[in-house]
Amino acid sequence: MAEARIIDGKGFAASLRARIAVAVEDLRTRHALVPGLAVVLVGEDPASQIYVRNKGEQTREVGMHSVTHRLPVDTSQEGLLRLVNQLNQDPSIHGILVQLPLPGHIDTQAVLSAIDPAKDVDGFHVVNTGRLSVGLPALVPCTPLGCMMLLKDTLSDLRGMNAVVIGRSNIVGKPMAQLLLAADCTVTIAHSRTRDLPAVARQADILIAAVGRPEMVRGDWIKEGATVIDVGINRVPARDPAAAAAGKTRIVGDVAYAEAAAVAGAITPVPGGVGPMTIACLLSNTVTAACRAAGVAVPAGVGL
Ligand code: NDP
Repeated sequence: MAEARIIDGKGFAASLRARIAVAVEDLRTRHALVPGLAVVLVGEDPASQIYVRNKGEQTREVGMHSVTHRLPVDTSQEGLLRLVNQLNQDPSIHGILVQLPLPGHIDTQAVLSAIDPAKDVDGFHVVNTGRLSVGLPALVPCTPLGCMMLLKDTLSDLRGMNAVVIGRSNIVGKPMAQLLLAADCTVTIAHSRTRDLPAVARQADILIAAVGRPEMVRGDWIKEGATVIDVGINRVPARDPAAAAAGKTRIVGDVAYAEAAAVAGAITPVPGGVGPMTIACLLSNTVTAACRAAGVAVPAGVGL
């Protein structure tokens, strides 16, 4: 069997950002509308700092208005809620993202619920979750949105396909399953209590792995020709023992890539697959939110 086609998420994300930049310029000149994204970071978690910096840079690169609020780790819940309310009222801000995880003394759900659902570009507010599940226009969580864009680009027609999503988190697994259902797939959601997971996975024409366990999905879990989307980002010791002993690491997905690529029809690599799509989809959601707020049609090629 031929080696799987590699789904180039990095390249797709770059072309999506280029389309967004064109759309942003068009919105500015024709509608005097500049989409604005506010990112809020509480504390100094190193990974979160990198994500927040990247989000700000990419927002500016496509010509959008970008604001970053960096708050000290001991910020009170009331203080954070006050800022969220200010951003809710600010007409230059169309998208609000509060970087997770928040420090332990802050009730994450209370903060996410305080964001105006129309500005909830992470798609985590229950209003958006509910709208997605009943098939109304919603702001969709960025990672599953990115996976769906890659799937639609890879497969001409998803209708009737068996899709298996491994993982049922609110940010990836569940919204992913809703999107696949909306695309007329027959959807199975698997999780840590699923019996005989390899057999369930082998039913999949589309297999989504969103587990957080390095290389858990093996080659013999995959149906020949299936499309495999690996959401996992796991840091493991470097391959070279000396480098590993020196503390060097590498990133792997939830799928054993080489084994899977020998069986699958198409597969996302890690890194370079789903990962780069997430911020690109955050930009896409911000344009969508800005257009809806202004009553302007969302430009073609920016959303799903
Ligand atoms: P969570 O930890 O919130 O959820 C993991 C899910 O996997 C749970 O539903 C859990 O089941 C299930 N699971 C855990 N162990 C097993 C097992 N042995 N067999 C079957 N199912 C299992 O993770 P997230 O959804 O937040 O993230 C998943 C992965 O995606 C992570 O590697 C994360 O780093 C990555 N990620 C990547 C992003 C990107 O931009 N590419 C963005 C977000 C996440 P149960 O519910 O029963 O506990």
